[in-house]
Amino acid sequence: MTTFESLGLSPEILKAIEDLGFESPSEVQEQTIPILLEEPTDMVALAQTGTGKTAAFGFPLIQNIDLNSKKTQGLILSPTRELCMQITNELKQYAKYYQNLNTVAVYGGASITDQARQIKRGAQIIVATPGRMKDMIQRNIIDISNINICILDEADEMLNMGFFEDIKEILSHSSDQKNTWLFSATMPKEVSMIAKKFMKSPKEITVGQKNISTKSVSHEYFIVGGRDRYSAVKRVVDANPDIYAVIFCRTKRDTQKVAEKLIEDGYSASALHGDLSQAQRDMVMNSFRKKQIQMLVATDVAARGIDVDDITHVINYQLPDEIETYTHRSGRTGRAGKEGKSLVIVTKSEVRKIRQVEKIIGQKFTQEELPSGDEICKRQLFHLADEIKNTTINSEIDSFIPDLEAQFEDLSKEEIIKKFFSVEFTRFHNYYKNAPKITQHSADDSYSSGKDYGDETRFFINIGEKDGFNWMSLKDFLKEQLNLDRDGVAKVDVKNTFSFFNVPTDDVEKVQSTFDTFKLKGRHVNVEITKDQKSGSGGRKGGGGGRDRGDRKPRKRFDKNSSSDFKGKKSGGSSVKSSFERRRKKS
Ligand code: AMP
Repeated sequence: MTTFESLGLSPEILKAIEDLGFESPSEVQEQTIPILLEEPTDMVALAQTGTGKTAAFGFPLIQNIDLNSKKTQGLILSPTRELCMQITNELKQYAKYYQNLNTVAVYGGASITDQARQIKRGAQIIVATPGRMKDMIQRNIIDISNINICILDEADEMLNMGFFEDIKEILSHSSDQKNTWLFSATMPKEVSMIAKKFMKSPKEITVGQKNISTKSVSHEYFIVGGRDRYSAVKRVVDANPDIYAVIFCRTKRDTQKVAEKLIEDGYSASALHGDLSQAQRDMVMNSFRKKQIQMLVATDVAARGIDVDDITHVINYQLPDEIETYTHRSGRTGRAGKEGKSLVIVTKSEVRKIRQVEKIIGQKFTQEELPSGDEICKRQLFHLADEIKNTTINSEIDSFIPDLEAQFEDLSKEEIIKKFFSVEFTRFHNYYKNAPKITQHSADDSYSSGKDYGDETRFFINIGEKDGFNWMSLKDFLKEQLNLDRDGVAKVDVKNTFSFFNVPTDDVEKVQSTFDTFKLKGRHVNVEITKDQKSGSGGRKGGGGGRDRGDRKPRKRFDKNSSSDFKGKKSGGSSVKSSFERRRKKS
């Protein structure tokens, strides 16, 4: 049996190991420690959490520190603040017999001044989350130009959380002479790319099997018309009463709009985007973490670093502009051994993007039908039945029972059950009985050429010949601004001070959000959907967003201004009682 002594560890570390009660090295320690102690090298180690990997890099790192220097010599980047604190604590225990070794944790959501003070006192090892680390480097609080060793811990998770650019930026402040040790549970393409980009002939270590994903995420998509995205999301949510989801939108505007609509429709939702202050964002994140908010509607940038474990669904309201971002989104669910679903709402013209995503994630999507109104009513009904059955009886109710029984005296058990459930059921039933139809498409009738003029929307724009455009240059300009395909802009008609153009109806929102704040030579550019949708010309329609079809509201599932209903539901409180409360509030 291999012993810790045989790995080449220092007496100080061996003494700490004895205090910790570790009897023998774990597999990853046995494989990595001798290599990392022998000579400076880069390393890629595939090992899951719980295999003892912190010590596998921690022991050699500690042993490499020059205690006569107070300069920062080792940097560990980790995806979450929890992990960051955990690693710091472990390292402090491993290094307890080294008098002058300081390890400092640097992570978001805590006082930057306190962390700066600790760094100032001298931190030979820094354990950091990428966002805060980048911030502190930019503020010149941390200097990593002298680090010899950089450890990327849980690299796959960091990339999933969208930290690639931050990592790149941080590493650009370090020397090329340093060694990088990368630890990851899985080896997706992105991690190999990092290994190639930042490392020189790394030694490779694998503990257990190579590509076993720690995640179990299934990927599904629904094809609907562009204007039915919101109704589609609503159906998904209604069909999953216990949903705990992140809904991703492409723009801040959509994020805000979708969150507002959900709140208006009585759901427990909140928006998370860059227009919120840091304090507001922290508040939203805290409420979401505590499950006081059931649905977080977020932009990709704002959602970076969400480290919540039991998210049941990721809903892609739209696919991201950069297809690669999809992995970061879907990685928010299916964590910590739980199963998750990543759902995508696409229009016919976007189905081909699904195929691109499949290539990137190496997994197939299944096309699903949105649940019907009847199906949703049924699911809600049985969900309520389950909740009632699982509710602990509150003995405080006993004293009211005789009166309640008297009130229901002339009703049979069957009638009571029917009436009781009708209270909830009728609301959903009434909504879905009258709900607007959602046309769903099959993947085969994909709109690919953009020539399906029946599915186009005509816009007015207040720029024209006077601004130096002809039909060709305006078409190019619009295609570029809107990031549309070759046939994405059609029937461009340029007049003196204004013009008209068509886009696929699926792209209406894109046009509106692109030109929302757009200025051409300092002048606001105004786009509006034309009243007359024939391609010839067209009168203008008042109000840019006039095509939004207001969806009818179902019942108020969660109180609009209070998230406590969801809290009650999830924490095993009396959800039945809370639904009574809801009704009372409204009546
Ligand atoms: P990690 O994979 O680094 O998160 O480690 C998981 C847990 O195993 C931590 O609580 C470590 O303290 C512990 N551990 C690490 N190495 C050993 C070892 N050789 N023997 C027993 N426990 C260990």
